[in-house]
Amino acid sequence: MHPMDSSLQIEVAPSDHPVSADRLAEILGSPGFGTHFSDHMYVAEWTPQRGWHDARVTAYAPLTLDPATAVLHYAQEIFEGMKAYRHADGSVWTFRPEENAARMVRSSTRLALPVLPVEDFVASVDTLVRTDERWVPDPAGEKSLYVRPFMFASETFLGVRPAQHVTYMVIASPAGAYFSKGLKPVSIWLSEEYTRAGRGGMGAAKTGGNYASSLLPQREAIEQGCDQVVFLDTEHLTYVEELGGMNLYFVHDDGTIVTPALGTILEGITRGSIIELCGKLGHRVEERRFSIDEWREGVASGRITEVFACGTAAVVTPVGTLKWAGGSVGEGEETGPVTQQVRQALVDIQYGRAEDTFGWMHRVV
Ligand SMILES: *Cc1c(COP(=O)(O)O)cnc(C)c1O
Repeated sequence: MHPMDSSLQIEVAPSDHPVSADRLAEILGSPGFGTHFSDHMYVAEWTPQRGWHDARVTAYAPLTLDPATAVLHYAQEIFEGMKAYRHADGSVWTFRPEENAARMVRSSTRLALPVLPVEDFVASVDTLVRTDERWVPDPAGEKSLYVRPFMFASETFLGVRPAQHVTYMVIASPAGAYFSKGLKPVSIWLSEEYTRAGRGGMGAAKTGGNYASSLLPQREAIEQGCDQVVFLDTEHLTYVEELGGMNLYFVHDDGTIVTPALGTILEGITRGSIIELCGKLGHRVEERRFSIDEWREGVASGRITEVFACGTAAVVTPVGTLKWAGGSVGEGEETGPVTQQVRQALVDIQYGRAEDTFGWMHRVV
């Protein structure tokens, strides 16, 4: 089926036990991240015979899975991450949802999962967010409703082959500002023992396995007193790839901004949007291979004036220190002007405070 073809009818069966208005106000007052879930969930099933079918929005509830469900054994799973933003006039919007849909198509292809048409993806998110509209927080403090679409091998079968029964779901969780104490530069640990993705591997797919493999090096980073881990390419152990779940940008003193080229990294929608945004702001962006020595020497010599990481959850995060076995560079405690400018420009579009000249926002409510 062509990824644009759509046919899924969505049945909406409202929950008979939505949380009370008081409890909801309490949750939205201090949502944290990934802890509380909205009243409903979206579910659709796929089989080779029927294609996508049984699309529905129902009360949020635990799943019952056979112990032999394929995903539990072979990790045939992909996901997306996006946010619904409430604007000052009460309307609710998502940011470039077709980009998430297109990326899920690419991820599903790599993981031998069925393709969910772009239109059905967008409709699934729209329908859940509309149903749970009261869960979208007010914009103060950069709150949002985090939306998590995911697809997994739900067939009961221990043989190794692409599943013949696949489930696609969307859940939603209110999210507070990623940094409760304001924007503070993060410190990065250079992983020299572990890598995240090799040529021909799953690095460009948004799949749980990449996160599973990042947990041990991430723990190592914490033990080293750092917030996040950065990975190098597997082939040369030389070129900067990305953090466990965020892409990287390097601002130079001549105004040039460098971001590692695509290939084995995850193609972040924030990353791509920043390339376009920087063009409009008058910064020159280069997508190219960027070595760890270029990072170390650039910060030490002052040629690199700012480093930042980006992704949907944290938007844009300044990077202060890079630390490795035997040394470190950068002690920045401040957010640089370009980091600040890019971050502000992006969140202003997302929250409807600046004109959306790119046509990135998609109205849901
Ligand atoms: C999701 C993700 C990102 C960021 O992508 P966005 O679309 O900007 O949220 C970066 N790296 C990895 C490994 C990811 O899974």
